[in-house]
Amino acid sequence: MTDSLHINQHPGIKPPSFECKIINSEIIDNQCWVEFDQTYYYPSGGGQPADHGSINGESGNFHISDVRKRTEIKHLLSGDELNSNSLVNQSFIANIDHERRNQLCRMHTAQHLISATADELYGARTVGNQINTEKTRIDLGMESRDAFSKDELQSAVNSYIDSSIDVSMSFRDRVELLEDPLVRVNMDLLPKNIDNLRVITIEGIDICPCAGTHVGNTNEIGHIEISKVKSKGAGKLRVEYHLLN
Ligand SMILES: [Zn+2]
Repeated sequence: MTDSLHINQHPGIKPPSFECKIINSEIIDNQCWVEFDQTYYYPSGGGQPADHGSINGESGNFHISDVRKRTEIKHLLSGDELNSNSLVNQSFIANIDHERRNQLCRMHTAQHLISATADELYGARTVGNQINTEKTRIDLGMESRDAFSKDELQSAVNSYIDSSIDVSMSFRDRVELLEDPLVRVNMDLLPKNIDNLRVITIEGIDICPCAGTHVGNTNEIGHIEISKVKSKGAGKLRVEYHLLN
C-alpha cells in the first residue's frame, strides 16, 4: 500500500515537496501510469478532481495530469520521452500544483457550506456534486423550487464565510454520527464496514464524512456567487457557483 495524505490545506501554503520512488508502471491505452512508494497527491474521488503536479529526477522531468485510486494510487505521466520500464526504481522529487490544490480546497469547503445551508434553509439534501477549479455544481433534492431563493442562499453562505468559522478534520464513530443532527448525509450510503469515519466539521454548522481536501477556516474560501440554477427533472435542482476571488 502506498501512503497518502489528505489534509486540510490552507490557501497560500504550498503542499510540501516529497521524495518518491516509482515502484510500478503500466501502459494503459498508450498512457503511462505509475505507482510511487509514497504519495501526497489527491486522487480524484468524492466529486473532487485529482491533484496535478510534476516529478523531477535524473531520469527525466514529467508532468502528472491525473491521479486515480484503484487498488493502489496511480499517477498519469507525460513529458520527457517515456520509457515506462526504465522508470521503475528511479527516484524523483515530487511537487503538487499548489494553486490548483488550494482552489479545489476552497471550492470543496464552499460545497460543504452551501449543502449545509440549503439543508438548513429549505430542508434540501445534497444528492450529487462535481467540484472543479472554475465552477462547481451541487444537485439538491427539492420537491418544489418555489421556496428556493438563489439570493437568500448566496447571502447566507457568504455571511458564514465572513464569520470566520473553523473547519477541522477528525475521526468519529459511525454510531455517534448517526445521532448527530449536524450530519446531513445519508449514512446508509457509506461503506458499512467502516466504523471509524474521517469527518470534516464546520464548527456548529455541519459534519460531513469526506476524504477530500479543505481549508481550515471559512474565511479562506472568499465569497461565492451562484451563477446558475436549473431544474434537473422531478425533485432535483442543480446549483452552479464560482469563487469571486
Ligand atoms: Zn469534503
